[in-house]
Amino acid sequence: MNLIDVHAHLGFERFNNDLDEVIERARKANLKLIITSGIGPKTNRQALEIVEKYLDIVKASFGIYPVDAIASKVKNISDDVKRDIEEFDVDEEIRWIEGNKDKCIAIGEVGLDYKVVPGTEELQKEVFRKIIQLAKKIDKPLVIHSRNAEADCINLLEEARMKKVVMHCFSGKKHLIRKGIELGFFFSVPPVITRLQHFKTLVEIVPLTQLLTETDAPYLSPVAGTRNEPANVVITIKEIAKIKNLSEKDVADQIYKNAETLFKI
Ligand SMILES: [Zn+2]
Repeated sequence: MNLIDVHAHLGFERFNNDLDEVIERARKANLKLIITSGIGPKTNRQALEIVEKYLDIVKASFGIYPVDAIASKVKNISDDVKRDIEEFDVDEEIRWIEGNKDKCIAIGEVGLDYKVVPGTEELQKEVFRKIIQLAKKIDKPLVIHSRNAEADCINLLEEARMKKVVMHCFSGKKHLIRKGIELGFFFSVPPVITRLQHFKTLVEIVPLTQLLTETDAPYLSPVAGTRNEPANVVITIKEIAKIKNLSEKDVADQIYKNAETLFKI
């Protein structure tokens, strides 16, 4: 059984002290691939370092997080999780990603977040449109963060005829899930499914051929208040198998196949 975590943040501070052990536990849990995701200049370069260190199991995704992307233009920006927000030049980072396109497997985490900084919708959309164009140009899938902005996200992706899309931790309503399915998007399911009915409903609606597994580690843990890690993909597989009434192996095999096609592994 081959498992995959299509979205984790191994470069985040909470993995500073024991990343070796985290990777070891992932190997033991049959993880064959972990895609570690940057959110800006600092973490994108960090992702490259992590890939170098764990070449056989980690690949990078370069991101421009919607909140950080507008930090140089909006005063006193803060996120709802405590972290340092990086101010940077989006166009410069887009050029860097293009220059390093062979070192990444996807573009993400990117998207729209209207929850954290309301009133910046147009500014965010402008950035997101540029990123979609980049993904099309270098032919990489997009890993999308959308919060209180699910409809706009889907509309911009549809408008640009973007096909290779992963909706990460998607919290949109049922009609938006259905629209994503129609557009051929993938939905990646985090282990927090054990305590959030929304993701159980999502798994019921989305065909197995359009599902993927993620952890968003260190976030979205199956146990509130604890750090999440890639080995927990096992938990998501179990939940999906239960909901779809299939064996864990059948679920894992199909999800790995989905990822192979999408990310050209
Ligand atoms: Zn994330």
